[in-house]
Amino acid sequence: MTFDYQRVYQHGTLALLVPGLFTGTLSVADLLTHGDFGIGTAHGLAGEMIILDGQAYQVTGEGQVNQLAPTDMVPFATVHFQAPELPNQTLGTVTKAELEAQTLAQQPLKNLFFAVKVTGRFKKMHTRAVEAQQEPYPNLTDATRVQPEFEQDGVTGTLVGYYAPTLYQGAAVAGYHVHFLNTAHDFGGHVLDYVIEDAQLTVQPFETFEQHFPSQDTDFLNSDFDLKAINADIEEAEH
Ligand SMILES: [Zn+2]
Repeated sequence: MTFDYQRVYQHGTLALLVPGLFTGTLSVADLLTHGDFGIGTAHGLAGEMIILDGQAYQVTGEGQVNQLAPTDMVPFATVHFQAPELPNQTLGTVTKAELEAQTLAQQPLKNLFFAVKVTGRFKKMHTRAVEAQQEPYPNLTDATRVQPEFEQDGVTGTLVGYYAPTLYQGAAVAGYHVHFLNTAHDFGGHVLDYVIEDAQLTVQPFETFEQHFPSQDTDFLNSDFDLKAINADIEEAEH
């Protein structure tokens, strides 16, 4: 089997979460046919999902890490196949802000989607995880008003996520959106901040952004999206 390393695949759009369309519309099994690394959320906005080496994990609002089953459903996720021969950069002490700026400064990548993967030891990792919502679902702003945060010092693990160009705000979070899972699989989430101590970085740019829609979901089909409100709500909920 050959994989398309130039393609990033997304199910759902970030914007559909804004009015509260949290129903899972694609199975984890189907999602994993499009990539072996990625991020997303589970049915009901249940936590922060991270996909590592073809396994989908969920960090819950309680901070627990569960492995998702192939039959679990997701409303929104982005995945790609990690290319085997990417240049590896060794990182010493570097902050999140420094690494994100350096990555964009090294190559003209600002108008492409690209994946970042950092594996190694972090001096500090600060995450958060959204709590699962019950129907009838609130909108994203209400669902994310209170989000438990977690912090660990001296933690080993893997950070995975994406950079999306400014033009794609709404489809995704414009800029960086990354999740983390530690090696022990008991700590992780949506990354707020970190300081790397000693790690390996790979950057994988994509030629193609494949946007898959929940075309059988009547709530999605009937939703009216307000672009201005979506922008403001994404900024509030995701940054
Ligand atoms: Zn996230």
